[in-house]
Amino acid sequence: MTPATPASDLPDRHLPVQPPGVPKVAVFSAQSYDRPFLDAANAKGICRLRYFDSALDADTVGLAAGHEVACIFVNDRADAGVLRSLAAGGTRLLALRCTGFNNVALAAARAHGVRVVRVSTYSPYSVAEHTAALLLSLVRRIPRAWYRTRDGNFTLDGLLGFDLHGRTVAVVGTGRIGIAFARIMRGFGCELLGHDSSENPEFEALGGRYGGLDELLAQADVVSLHCPLTPQTQYLIDARRLATCKPGLILLNTSRGGLVDTAAVIEALKSERLGGVAIDVYEQEADLFYRDWSSRIVPDDLFERLLSFHNVVVTGHQAFFTHEAMTTISRTTIDSIGQFARGERLSEELVID
Ligand code: NAD
Repeated sequence: MTPATPASDLPDRHLPVQPPGVPKVAVFSAQSYDRPFLDAANAKGICRLRYFDSALDADTVGLAAGHEVACIFVNDRADAGVLRSLAAGGTRLLALRCTGFNNVALAAARAHGVRVVRVSTYSPYSVAEHTAALLLSLVRRIPRAWYRTRDGNFTLDGLLGFDLHGRTVAVVGTGRIGIAFARIMRGFGCELLGHDSSENPEFEALGGRYGGLDELLAQADVVSLHCPLTPQTQYLIDARRLATCKPGLILLNTSRGGLVDTAAVIEALKSERLGGVAIDVYEQEADLFYRDWSSRIVPDDLFERLLSFHNVVVTGHQAFFTHEAMTTISRTTIDSIGQFARGERLSEELVID
């Protein structure tokens, strides 16, 4: 994937044809909790929102026909074929209600004349705080203790944790979320190690020290992933790296599932090389998350094996899900659609060179 460039660098040929009137927006993966936030952000009637429960993919793309804008979330698929169909149906803007854009074929979007906007920043605290919650849940065995106390069992066997104070935490990707997480960990009295392709002086000001990923994994007690999923970061955590990490390492992933080779993680849990895993994202989550599987058989043996470990905590891609974040995501999305409708510069546009 070629890195995105700021909208200000756009050549003139990317400027849109003025769309007529109020744009129609096909909102995919629209959950009941999304709608009030988007409706509130659109109180002035900037666009006409039409909600679809379905995720965007090759089978559902026809729903967007006649809508100038398609609005999607993390597990919708905007690959080359879907973008071709969107363009054929008259869609000229793809509005992502998220930060990550690994699910969008940006080159195909450009080829088909579909502009792409995202929400580059909302609340980094939402994800950073959820990561901290996962870490505490895991190391202090909170889910296990809660099941036990609800059942009237107040014994402590199997609940032994460890102090975070004085432990070494490695942050991979020290951008907006990574730095917010680093700050929280600093507050706990942890030593900070960092790895990033572009170093952040704020991380060093917190007392953090940058290093290579292999070096970090060999020293850290906890590693937390906060870099985007790109071809370069796919399976950043693989069998080779897990074989050389510090024994007992705690792995946290609230970024994207594809950063981690799940099969290798399962082997490292079985051999006890990994001391625990807490994740909010999973590489095959698109078919599972945001749906209720509780009365059906989950058709993913790898995921079920992961859930079977006592030292694994999983949430279903909810780290962003706070009132503050949902409000900002919705406002930014509607603002972008308004800019598009008025033919203005799209301040949240993603383009490739
Ligand atoms: P950001 O752009 O502010 O920070 C990302 C950091 O990763 C940057 O500092 C960048 O230099 C670094 N990076 C890029 N490539 C790297 C590489 N190969 N190795 C190491 N570092 C690399 O982004 P952010 O707002 O902090 O978000 C980070 C990620 O969090 C997003 O890409 C998204 O995947 C994920 N996210 C998850 C949720 C959730 O609900 N679970 C919500 C929002 C974002």
